[in-house]
Amino acid sequence: MTDWARLEQLAAERPHDGQRYLNRYPTPDHGLADFLRWQRQSRGRFAAPMSFPLRRPDPVELASPAPQPRFTWIGHATYLIQYRGWNLLTDPVFSERCSPVSFLGPKRTVAPALTVDELPTIDAVLVSHNHYDHLDKDAVAALNHRFGDRLTWFAPQGVGAWLRRRKVARVVELSWWQHQRHREVDAFCLPAQHFSGRGPRDRNRTLWCSWRLNWPDFSLFFAGDTGYAPVFGEIGEVLGPVDVALLPIGAYQPRWFMAPVHVDPAEAVRIHRDLDARHSLAMHWGTFVLTDEPMDEPPQALARALADQGVPARAFRVPGHGQTLTLPVGAQ
Ligand code: ZN
Ligand code: ZN
Repeated sequence: MTDWARLEQLAAERPHDGQRYLNRYPTPDHGLADFLRWQRQSRGRFAAPMSFPLRRPDPVELASPAPQPRFTWIGHATYLIQYRGWNLLTDPVFSERCSPVSFLGPKRTVAPALTVDELPTIDAVLVSHNHYDHLDKDAVAALNHRFGDRLTWFAPQGVGAWLRRRKVARVVELSWWQHQRHREVDAFCLPAQHFSGRGPRDRNRTLWCSWRLNWPDFSLFFAGDTGYAPVFGEIGEVLGPVDVALLPIGAYQPRWFMAPVHVDPAEAVRIHRDLDARHSLAMHWGTFVLTDEPMDEPPQALARALADQGVPARAFRVPGHGQTLTLPVGAQ
């Protein structure tokens, strides 16, 4: 049940100091000096690149109707979500590297499970923020080229201008707690605890967010990139339980630097509980080396965290690269 009165109050707040966007709860702002300290301390300890098995989904099967919600992990934060005539992508990235230039920066250790050409006809894209591992100009160009103005881009405030500069026609740009109906789906832009920026001078000049989509009989939460904050309890209170949550489990070490902006698996389980999610699916691990933890650690740490917090393992699953899961509406 949505608490519309509280939602309206929250939507009137501005997560902005006139210059830059701010997190809902104050967080330490690690600047360049801290970044350099991390790089210095981690030299030689940076996680080794590891590959993982890749299933190749059958594009013909993915083009068939999805009477039940169907999820395919393409890699990192990119999911294909299909339900009742909707084909949706989250944070589409298909490039070899997630960085401003094609020859430098974190390189994929597992290929994307699908290419843009193999995708079914996409109706909408959810963008959480403008970091390179979530918003990729080549993916935007390729999706725009293939689907053009039949594709709607949901983006947090400030990211719309960037998309429009790349000739994207249909952008729904929202601030936290705002929503917009699109066909039979209500899309809510919601807080996450993170930051933004693609270069040295645009830190927190555009908003970062999570998304919730409500179909008449099914609901979805996409966390984007986030640290842990009480905000997920608030989201749960305002919007009620959610059927499926896509939650990040990787890129969390060292904690002194990453904790404000990236959850560890135990915190991902807390978010699952705060949101009152029926099912969660893991993302944001096993694709790029971004941080210090071993690339295969997040699923193992998640299994321990689920046991510690008394959450059944089947409630928070870790799909493999390219794996498709169907989660029946209303199933436990
Ligand atoms: Zn990010
Ligand atoms: Zn990220």
